[in-house]
Amino acid sequence: MHRILNTKVFKVGPDHIEIRFIEEAVKVIRDGGLVVFPTETVYGLGADTFNRGAIVKIFEAKGRPLDNPLIIHIASTDQLEEVVDLKFVKLDVYRLMEKFWPGPLTFILPKAQHVPYEVTAGKNTVAVRMPAHPVALKLIELSRTPIAAPSANLSGKPSPTLPEHVIKDMMGRVDVILDSGETLYGVESTIIDLTRDPPILLRPGAVPVEEVEKYLQKKIVVPDFARGIAEAPEPLSPGMKYRHYAPNTPLIVLEAEDYSNLQGYVEKILEYISVLKSSGKKILVLASRETENLYRGLDANVLVLGSRKNLFEIAKNLFPILRSIDELGVDLAVVEGFEERGLGLTIMNRLRKASGYNIVKI
Ligand code: AMP
Ligand code: MG
Repeated sequence: MHRILNTKVFKVGPDHIEIRFIEEAVKVIRDGGLVVFPTETVYGLGADTFNRGAIVKIFEAKGRPLDNPLIIHIASTDQLEEVVDLKFVKLDVYRLMEKFWPGPLTFILPKAQHVPYEVTAGKNTVAVRMPAHPVALKLIELSRTPIAAPSANLSGKPSPTLPEHVIKDMMGRVDVILDSGETLYGVESTIIDLTRDPPILLRPGAVPVEEVEKYLQKKIVVPDFARGIAEAPEPLSPGMKYRHYAPNTPLIVLEAEDYSNLQGYVEKILEYISVLKSSGKKILVLASRETENLYRGLDANVLVLGSRKNLFEIAKNLFPILRSIDELGVDLAVVEGFEERGLGLTIMNRLRKASGYNIVKI
């Protein structure tokens, strides 16, 4: 059970950042409390990495299983040695940090001795990143400690990208919420395990894996669980086995072999839906801007995720739309698939997991 707290909500930006509100949040972190803070990906639920009691409170507040480790957020590379065993870190890794930090790329590296096992869920590795958000950076810097933080949603729900999501999930469960409006990417960081050679993509996210490969000049392994078509093996990717992002309404991902003939693809979707509708089910279609018109005449709700030519937009709209599905009073939702390239891989990972692997190839 979580404790019932008197949560304070402070507006900090995006335009004007009041430092006194960040200072209040800093006090909370220093005293072992919980702060929800904005990042460029989604909102995080943070505590002092080195305060075991505070870390345990994160798991209670989210209802998160204890075997699902947290990401440690740092504000400068000087803080790296506090959390990572630098003996094992090679030049390649520093090059990646220089290129992608601050930014939505998380690395798995060997842990420094003093990082509590509560943070890493018993593992000898840590997940670490430097967020590209002025509020997050200031909070970490003034707290003078790396901040461990998972996404600020109740366990199993889509990550929060808007203040109202945070308030819905975290009111009464945390000490302070720093509200900075909508987050930029709206999807979590990309996680790459650099303790292996070749490196392994553990979670596709806001940085396309191809960009990292190009810079590293090395192949990064993309296992089936990173595509969202298989459960993650526990030792490699703890916590990824849990159902995530899922609405209560059943969701089916309708995937095509390829997406070059959208007209033909939607015809097959319509055929699929007509079978469902014959049993009297109310249906929601999550479509794309390019296809929405093709559903005209269909007696169903249609929501547009965004344009296929702008996957950034689709990735950003995904979590708010997944959160809204249950409010529409439909029996079933079907969603179009996207090519697994660039952010398309990230989008397909989230959709497949949200559907509980309810994937149909049509
Ligand atoms: P969240 O911030 O809520 O997206 O959760 C962080 C995710 O990072 C977890 O679900 C883990 O799968 C992943 N993670 C954190 N630490 C490690 C680690 N040491 N090894 C592998 N994955 C990790
Ligand atoms: Mg999460």
